Amino acid sequence: MATDSENLSSLLFQALNISLSFRIQFHRLNIKNDPRLEGLIKMADLTINLAAICTPADYNTRPLDTIYSNFIDALPVVKYCSENSKRLIHFSTCEVYGKTIGCFLPKDSPLRQDPAYFVLKEDASPCIFGPIEKQRWSYACAKQLIERLIYAEGAENGLEFTIVRPFNWIGPRMDFIPGIDGPSEGVPRVLACFSNNLLRHEPLKLVDGGKSQRTFVYVKDAIEAVLLMIENPARANGHIFNVGNPNNEVTVKQLAEMMTQVYSKVSAEPPLDIPTIDVSSEEFYGEGYDDSDKRIPDMTIINRQLGWNPKTSLWDLLESTLTYQHRTYAEAVKKAISKPVAS
Ligand code: UDP
Repeated sequence: MATDSENLSSLLFQALNISLSFRIQFHRLNIKNDPRLEGLIKMADLTINLAAICTPADYNTRPLDTIYSNFIDALPVVKYCSENSKRLIHFSTCEVYGKTIGCFLPKDSPLRQDPAYFVLKEDASPCIFGPIEKQRWSYACAKQLIERLIYAEGAENGLEFTIVRPFNWIGPRMDFIPGIDGPSEGVPRVLACFSNNLLRHEPLKLVDGGKSQRTFVYVKDAIEAVLLMIENPARANGHIFNVGNPNNEVTVKQLAEMMTQVYSKVSAEPPLDIPTIDVSSEEFYGEGYDDSDKRIPDMTIINRQLGWNPKTSLWDLLESTLTYQHRTYAEAVKKAISKPVAS
């Protein structure tokens, strides 16, 4: 398993090791420059590449690292799998779809309600990114190119591959809490940002009003989809799979409201009088940020090939995740807040 996404890889590793009767080995190495990489790929039946910078706050502020880690550094893994006839499961992203066609329609166009203009299909939807100066898209573009390269290795050299496009996987241990188990200046993804705000009793920050829409899937459901891919090569090879939950769609503002409610329930603390505040994307992420407007995965292919469907509702997954966040971090955050600030 090649990974940089530490938390997701350890969750996946645990799940796989149990279900595959402990036939997995763990080697910690840097895929950029470790001479052991080819030998390890040769020894294994399957390589799963999760190595990536995959935090939106990095895409416009560290575009070079983003492009290198998602494209250049992934090249040797693809090459060694192809040359040694080894199977590859490569983790990509739903962000390769970019923006929906619907977002370019006039605001009052009835076509905006038509799923043909927003549901994202692996074999039909275009990939629509913003201009180069919007460096947000450095990630999506690098991921798109590595997908195309893997696909071409499959077409020209017979590489057996599966590409996974995660749609906002969330759950316990998927990210870091700034200043507790990650850098205090770091900006994680939305679930951890909002958890951090709730733990610190500060308003949740809605970027550009929190209008963007997302579908969230519970990481435990998503890992089941990956297990099906591993166990069913004949049905998974040669395919790109959306892995998400189309039933769990909310705006970011609705997510903030729901998390406020759920956190109040699991922590037995009253919600703040002013639970959210608006911030501009420039202020929050810096120059070059841009956003995907809406992300609904089409489930036809994963359903047909693997019979997989997500199970967990947004409320249930937030309840279990925020129970975990409260239990794991509330005390540490309280201590961090009470420490005097060095002058
Ligand atoms: N977002 C927000 N407040 C935060 C963090 C994120 O409003 O504190 C928004 C962000 O602008 C985006 C959405 O939440 O519209 C999801 O962001 P995330 O970083 O989880 O990843 P993305 O889905 O954009 O890849």
